[in-house]
Amino acid sequence: MNEAERRQYLQAMGIQYWIPRSASEDTVVERETVGDHQAAEPVEVVAAPVSKANSRPYMGTPDRSLPDDEPPPWLDEVPPPSNEYLPTEDLVGHADQPGSDDFLDDGVSRLDWAGLEARVTQCQACELHKTRIQTVFGVGKRDADLLVIGEAPGADEDRKGEPFVGRAGQLLNAMLKAIGLQREQVYIANILKCRPPGNRDPRVEEVVHCAPFLQRQVGLIKPRAILAVGAVAAKNLLQSDEAVGRLRGRVHQYNGIPVVVTYHPAYLLRSPEQKAKAWHDLQKAAKLILAKP
Ligand code: URA
Repeated sequence: MNEAERRQYLQAMGIQYWIPRSASEDTVVERETVGDHQAAEPVEVVAAPVSKANSRPYMGTPDRSLPDDEPPPWLDEVPPPSNEYLPTEDLVGHADQPGSDDFLDDGVSRLDWAGLEARVTQCQACELHKTRIQTVFGVGKRDADLLVIGEAPGADEDRKGEPFVGRAGQLLNAMLKAIGLQREQVYIANILKCRPPGNRDPRVEEVVHCAPFLQRQVGLIKPRAILAVGAVAAKNLLQSDEAVGRLRGRVHQYNGIPVVVTYHPAYLLRSPEQKAKAWHDLQKAAKLILAKP
């Protein structure tokens, strides 16, 4: 399919545009690899519609205070805490996509958790069903305040059926702990429910077919904030072709849900010097979920 055809195809489906994947952090394949990693090549990722407005009040718990005085163990250098990320002033952008809600929905937007999980397990909408061991639905608290969205399952996740269980997952757990959250207190999902073979980047048709599932998860969870980790998650949720380095540092909005972008933990494992920035992003997400509605 050439570019013009692809655009037409996506437009017909209510997807506003597609995004050539570009340089720097964004070209680094972020899922962990187990010896069969292919070189990252330019790939299109589409804007995936996600969301429903969030109106549930925050139910705070005592262990949610930010560890302002205590450096997170995963950081060598912790920037001083600040209030610069309070949500009120820097809400930007809107990712509403008229017409996209119905796209390939096939009733998914009305499913309950059990129905949704069954639909995902049986999904054969794209080629990935042929190579997966199992689908990776998502894990965590189904009414979580924070929804973490990554890219796609890697080999470990494919084997275990759970997102972020490898080394990147361990770092993600540590990052969450640094803002007072156990893994079980958040919900963790990916843009794709199935592992792309060799951990290659998601293809446009895969993202398009998978989008209604994540969209429904967001609608059911109604998180107070979304933490988009890495380029694929950020670009798809925000319909942006900007690099993660440019998308981070401000609060975006997805149909009423604030979205904070940060680096993917797999990238942080390779580039630990970026952890200080990730710490800023995490504090920002924490403040969003602690903020009064
Ligand atoms: N990387 C991701 O983006 N998601 C996973 O589930 C694991 C690694």
